[in-house]
Amino acid sequence: MAFFIFAHVNLELNIPSPISEVEIAGRKVLIKREDLIHPSLSGNKFRKLKYNLVNLENQGHQLVVSFGGAYSNHIHALAFACHYFKLRLILFIRGEEVNNPTLDHVEEFGAEIRFVTRTEYRTIKNQTYFSEWPEAYVIPEGGTNDLALKGVGEMMTEIELQDVQICVPYGSGGTSLGIMSNLKPNSNLHIFSALKFPSFEMEFLLKCRHLRIEASRYILHDEFHFGGYGKWNSELIDFINLFPIPLDPIYTGKMFYGIKDLINREKFDPDRPILAIHTGGLQGIAGFNERFGHIIRT
Ligand SMILES: *Cc1c(COP(=O)(O)O)cnc(C)c1O
Repeated sequence: MAFFIFAHVNLELNIPSPISEVEIAGRKVLIKREDLIHPSLSGNKFRKLKYNLVNLENQGHQLVVSFGGAYSNHIHALAFACHYFKLRLILFIRGEEVNNPTLDHVEEFGAEIRFVTRTEYRTIKNQTYFSEWPEAYVIPEGGTNDLALKGVGEMMTEIELQDVQICVPYGSGGTSLGIMSNLKPNSNLHIFSALKFPSFEMEFLLKCRHLRIEASRYILHDEFHFGGYGKWNSELIDFINLFPIPLDPIYTGKMFYGIKDLINREKFDPDRPILAIHTGGLQGIAGFNERFGHIIRT
């Protein structure tokens, strides 16, 4: 257990996050359970927020602004954090007004929600929009910025193994880059994209080059997105329902499906351990089930 302290308020977190062990297609796979860090602040979203919270406290901000889709794990985590640490939060939500369990929680946490059209959203996402809001601390979509990479990099200090094959899901790439920036010797990273993105590889390569990360240390897998971000089929749902620990349908379900496929095709090195990062996202299952008829077992 560890405490994160903000403005003299203590938040207890299950850090270092525990490691579980499962068998997938006959192969032992270790799972770093970032989903167990905190019930309302799970996974990579706490790691990405940590140094942003430190920074906004140092700068004396009382108002936080961020953006996301209506089911976003980032806005859910951020809303909890702002509620707990008594910060005002304004969230711009992409698309028409909707109701779902994620937004219900976010409202219970006291965040102010503003629905904006997709066109408006694109303008707002461009952070120069907030140059007239100097009192606001702006956190980008998905929580990914340089401070986020530092927080994610810390996760790697909790792993004692070297020479390990690490697996992580990809959304905006912040988690992958944070891990890459602090990868142990001889380890490499398998990245499973949750979205279909024509320039996925290019954009990521540019960011890696910018951070001086060696291209030989990561492998991009873009064949497990099931048609794109948020897309799914019954094969994915069946896989999730049979898996020994809870998985979300947007990120971790697709990653573990991909891991099983790669094990079956003998794509992993047989002599080096496999360690998958369970990035959380389980809060999204309620909204998914509400939309699609309670198909994921909870
Ligand atoms: C946000 C999220 C990701 C993607 O992280 P990025 O840093 O955007 O690549 C992966 N898994 C879960 C559960 C998430 O909530």
